[in-house]
Amino acid sequence: MSDIKIRQLSKSYGAYQALKSCDLVIPDGALLALLGPSGCGKSTTLQLLAGFDTPSEGEIWAGEQLLSSPRKVIPPEHRGISLVFQNYAIWPHKTVAENVAFGLKLRKLGKAELEARLTKALDTVRLGALRDRYPFELSGGQQQRVALARALAVEPNILLLDEPLSNLDAHLREEMRFEIRRVHDELGITTVYVTHDQGEALVTADRVAVMRGGVVQQLGSPEEIFEQPANTFVASFIGSNNEITGIKEAAGMLRVGGTRLFGQDRSGLAQGQAATLCIRPSRVRLGEPAVADNRLNGIVRRCAYLGEYRDVLIELDEGGTLRAFVSPDLRPLPGERVSAELPAEHCQLLSAPE
Ligand code: ADP
Repeated sequence: MSDIKIRQLSKSYGAYQALKSCDLVIPDGALLALLGPSGCGKSTTLQLLAGFDTPSEGEIWAGEQLLSSPRKVIPPEHRGISLVFQNYAIWPHKTVAENVAFGLKLRKLGKAELEARLTKALDTVRLGALRDRYPFELSGGQQQRVALARALAVEPNILLLDEPLSNLDAHLREEMRFEIRRVHDELGITTVYVTHDQGEALVTADRVAVMRGGVVQQLGSPEEIFEQPANTFVASFIGSNNEITGIKEAAGMLRVGGTRLFGQDRSGLAQGQAATLCIRPSRVRLGEPAVADNRLNGIVRRCAYLGEYRDVLIELDEGGTLRAFVSPDLRPLPGERVSAELPAEHCQLLSAPE
């Protein structure tokens, strides 16, 4: 097996460009999540990776083998891929074992090998005890495990997962994220996981490609995309975020009215241009009103108790609002004047995506 390399990949549907010059490397054995809002080009990328569609421009390589280009597309059945979709597409009239064995039967394996692979796939997804049940006797999560076992049984080189958990309820979805990561740790199959759910991407992936409008905005580890977002889109799409706009006065320095705010500068903007300072609500500290750098004063407008923290909305004197997630032991009251400290090490000056 080998790394998958996507080079300058584009896909147009008529005049509409769904994917624009996408460059990605998926290291052998890694799990890459394609993350972004609906319509950003995730499924298009997956379809091209699977060989269901022809790129308009660019190439996909597996090691030294060219899988896709505008002139040539190796068909899905010769790529060693398995796909798992949102609607699990398991056969209602076949048992769990019959569903999982289906792909193996097409491969005309000997009886002993078929049984060994079937047992291994069922054990991997912890369905061994339910092998003789029919789908209607299973929960949604168990049905999705059947689809996963069927995809794994054929021992693919690449596993493609397209919103695999979207049909499950919130509780099951959370449990299955960890399951998908566990199975990946156990088998080490190179995997591409399409999702619009940031939590799923952060839990399951080694690398996350954040997409918007057919363009990869950032490729990085879950921590990198959360802690060092490339632009305001990534900062706001992954987790909660405050955006404060002002004028960049110097590298790492934003002026908002009469206040100076300092932070890491990754905006690429020139002095005097409008820039945005981003900070996570969990990093904002509330205190008594004060005048100092990296502080903004304002009035508490709302304070919601969420058990593990309080979500405080502050209307700033200099315009705009700020959210702070503070300890549930603090009880800021609506109408109270407060000072929000924005620790410089957690502030980032960013620009909007191109
Ligand atoms: P995502 O998976 O991120 O939701 P898609 O890759 O499915 O997004 O789609 C990207 C864009 O391309 C969307 O605007 C979608 O409407 C468009 N698109 C996808 N497939 C087709 C198609 N077969 N014909 C025309 N437009 C398409």
